[in-house]
Amino acid sequence: MNSETLAISSKNLIPGGVNSPVRAFNAVGGQPMFFNKAVGPYIYNVEGEEILDFVLSWGPGVLGHAPTRIVKAVQEEVEGGFCYGMASPLECDLAQYVCDKVDGLEMVRFVNSGTEATMSAIRLARGFTGKSDFVKFEGCYHGHSDGLLVKAGSGVATFGEASSAGVPEGYTKHTISVPFNDLSATRKAFENGDIAAVIIEPVPGNMGVVPTKDGFLQGLRDLCDEFGALLIFDEVMCGFRVSQTTAAHRYGVNPDLFCFGKVIGGGMPVGAFGGRKEVMEKLAPSGSVYQAGTLSGNPIAMRAGLETLKEFYESDCFAKMDAIGAKLESTVRELIAIRDDVKFSRIGSMFTLFFHSGDEIENVEDVGKCDFDRFGRFFNFMLREKKILLPPSQYESNFLSSVHTEEHMNRYVEGLKEFFSQENK
Ligand SMILES: *Cc1c(COP(=O)(O)O)cnc(C)c1O
Repeated sequence: MNSETLAISSKNLIPGGVNSPVRAFNAVGGQPMFFNKAVGPYIYNVEGEEILDFVLSWGPGVLGHAPTRIVKAVQEEVEGGFCYGMASPLECDLAQYVCDKVDGLEMVRFVNSGTEATMSAIRLARGFTGKSDFVKFEGCYHGHSDGLLVKAGSGVATFGEASSAGVPEGYTKHTISVPFNDLSATRKAFENGDIAAVIIEPVPGNMGVVPTKDGFLQGLRDLCDEFGALLIFDEVMCGFRVSQTTAAHRYGVNPDLFCFGKVIGGGMPVGAFGGRKEVMEKLAPSGSVYQAGTLSGNPIAMRAGLETLKEFYESDCFAKMDAIGAKLESTVRELIAIRDDVKFSRIGSMFTLFFHSGDEIENVEDVGKCDFDRFGRFFNFMLREKKILLPPSQYESNFLSSVHTEEHMNRYVEGLKEFFSQENK
């Protein structure tokens, strides 16, 4: 079956035809494409076309798809069974490895997704501080648990209103949503609430890549200390993508809790949260904050994560991704220097091209003023004419891997150039 017939039959079987909304390509006005293979920097659709991939499963693929070392390790591990539901040494191995690498990470708990990591970190922060409210920022995404699915009122700190049906008011009344990059609004939230935690993507990728202003993260650290709240860095996307380790390391600001996902499982369903021992020991069974998971610490997933991180360090993966990212950035900036209608943003191996006129983008409100129709045309041009897969939404980050090369960057830039010139016809 080809993508077209699959799109029709899947819609009768799975809501919207997909198991995660962005895959439906609704934001770019196209039909979803179906894929059945991914190797290196390429993903292959069911039609058998080789497509250069800048999505990389939304981030996990720092080494590209199906790296030989990970494939071998997983094959070997599978022979010994898929899951034990009991403690296994691999969980210690991955925990030890991550704690050795990440400053301030003394203990870690593995879960099965980023959503679980953030949801559990919030519960832990509440249990540790004995407080109920927490602050999140407009445009930051922290998974799909009820209390985190909140959009804010415009411009000011507001108690949240759910951005999804099916979330009763009671589930979001402790969520205070604050404009991104706005320290004084955050202070106001502290003065008016009983704040257990501040959660932030220290390098946001879920509104496209939008950098924090200088001093913003440190300002949050100071507010949390002043008011006795925990600072949570949701590094599910940016961890191992914006520095050798974390955004915390890149910016020199230490959170109380980290959330990880994506890279840490090397493409297997793994999330993790962790931090200071004193806080983590509040978790069951050593403490009173309940958290559990039948499949948590799954041996295949732990092995994939461990081998991915080992290869990440042994192959100097971050330096490679950052160098190729810098190359892309300088070429794109040259190309768009004379234009007012496009902005480019990159941090490490994450980047976004915004079809936005005027000033640089500082928050999700600015992203909302992008030319979405034009983005949709760009996406479809790149995919269908140039065989390059970009994230199908303006509110997303592109991702690089260590197997993306200068030649691949040139393909992107040539595609962009051609897109601009065919626009003028
Ligand atoms: C992807 C993501 C999540 C959610 O992770 P899932 O594995 O999709 O549940 C949470 N936070 C951030 C920053 C993410 O990018």
